[in-house]
Amino acid sequence: MRRVSHWINGQLVDEGDEDLPVVNPATDEQIAVVRMAGPRTVRRAIDAAEAASDAWARTPQSRRAQVIFRFRELLLESREEIAALITAEHGKTLDDAAGEVSRALESVDLATGGPALAQGATSQQTGPGIDTRSVLHPVGICLGITPFNFPLMMGMMMAPVALAAGNTFIWKPSEQDPGTAMKIAELFQRAGLPDGVLNVVHGRQDAAEQLIDDPRVQAVSFVGSSAVAQAVYSRASASGSRAQAFGGAKNHLVVMPDADLDVVADQLASSAFGAAGQRCMAVSVAVVVGESDEPLLERLRSRATAVRVNAGDVPGTEVGPVVSRRAQERIRHLVKEAIADGARAVVDRSTETVPGYESGYFVGPTVLADVPLTSRAYQEEVFGPVLVVLRVDTLDEAIDLIRGHRYGNGASIFTSNGAAASHFEREATAGMVGVNVAIPVPVAAYAVQGWKGSVFGDTGLNNASWSFYTRPKYITSRWESTVGTDFGFRPN
Ligand code: NAD
Repeated sequence: MRRVSHWINGQLVDEGDEDLPVVNPATDEQIAVVRMAGPRTVRRAIDAAEAASDAWARTPQSRRAQVIFRFRELLLESREEIAALITAEHGKTLDDAAGEVSRALESVDLATGGPALAQGATSQQTGPGIDTRSVLHPVGICLGITPFNFPLMMGMMMAPVALAAGNTFIWKPSEQDPGTAMKIAELFQRAGLPDGVLNVVHGRQDAAEQLIDDPRVQAVSFVGSSAVAQAVYSRASASGSRAQAFGGAKNHLVVMPDADLDVVADQLASSAFGAAGQRCMAVSVAVVVGESDEPLLERLRSRATAVRVNAGDVPGTEVGPVVSRRAQERIRHLVKEAIADGARAVVDRSTETVPGYESGYFVGPTVLADVPLTSRAYQEEVFGPVLVVLRVDTLDEAIDLIRGHRYGNGASIFTSNGAAASHFEREATAGMVGVNVAIPVPVAAYAVQGWKGSVFGDTGLNNASWSFYTRPKYITSRWESTVGTDFGFRPN
């Protein structure tokens, strides 16, 4: 049985207070065991990160960037191996897992630009003979806690920029699919990253809290569910760290009367059902403005019915299983509850089983219409392949739904009307907005960042991380001597 232990100071550390099974969601078979860190292991990881901090922070920027470049090449070479590992532990299709590696590479590309991007500013003659400069220093030890649904990409939106900026990093990945982080640590070592600069610790809430509470940890990045995001943000802030915590979502896609319904149905199905709905930017609510609801539902019915659900490594599979038995039961329950609340099941494949994989955690694509707004299927993040379709009379009513929802990660509109699109761009209360794009995640050169209950903190991931992972120092200097005392506080 494969053992997933910790990576501390450049070595595997095979210790833990408890072992958890890592399970293949397509088969319900245990494929590995992951060791949960106790207090001693967590301390070792922080000690290692602390010991490595000063030397890495003093390493010239260009040499740090070279390590990231070498890592990038190794990640590219290992693309298929990593995709297979993601599929085995997470369940998503091999094609989708390869897509995650590609997106992760885009974030790594960004980090190779450290020397150009992590720059301060200089102004001359800001006072008589005085120059002012700002320079960016690393913050020290950074912690990244990541969710199960992107076992590679979320960590890559954090660690490479943090490392390029001269920090050391401790990664606590999800215990549900912990293997990828270990592979990344190994690749970074092969790329020449000094021991202790990147450490991986597996653990439960107690381990995460010990990491957050340690005063040596200076910055905490979290991605996961909103309740935990809020708790982590509060805890990190209370311990004096800077913090950014990204939470759940309920992304609405507004369909205007002039939208091409075939295009919309294709995009909706891909966004809502891809990765079995386990993407933070998946559309989970379609809001149809006007009379096109029934024609759209008809198209969605045929698409949802045709989706090929199977194990992620079976060729031709479009949607794999969800991550765990618990997730499967929770999603099925929310669908049942919505129907009991009065929703109409246009397609309900939620209880479907897959021949040959009867024990797998499958949930087939499901489309619900007439869902009451009070139903949990609308109010909460289902995080499964379940699409809620609502109908309203006007664009403003659709926007009001978005404004009234507690989450604000993404929101999209499909239309050929520029005025409607601009109005939507201005009024939708979401951090990432799409126009004729169903998963509007910006490229790495911008930022990933929601609004409202989808985020706690004020700094996004990717390009916005340069400011999160650095602290400015302002230097005021004068090299022309002035003679004579002056006890006043003069204007510059
Ligand atoms: P989760 O909140 O259960 O766990 C996330 C991470 O936090 C894991 O590493 C877990 O071990 C750890 N954790 C759990 N409880 C903790 C606690 N009390 N204190 C500290 N750490 C704790 O989330 P998940 O189920 O792994 O991931 C799915 C969620 O992530 C969804 O809500 C999804 O929307 C969200 N997500 C959001 C974004 C975004 O950009 N906003 C991106 C990806 C995923």
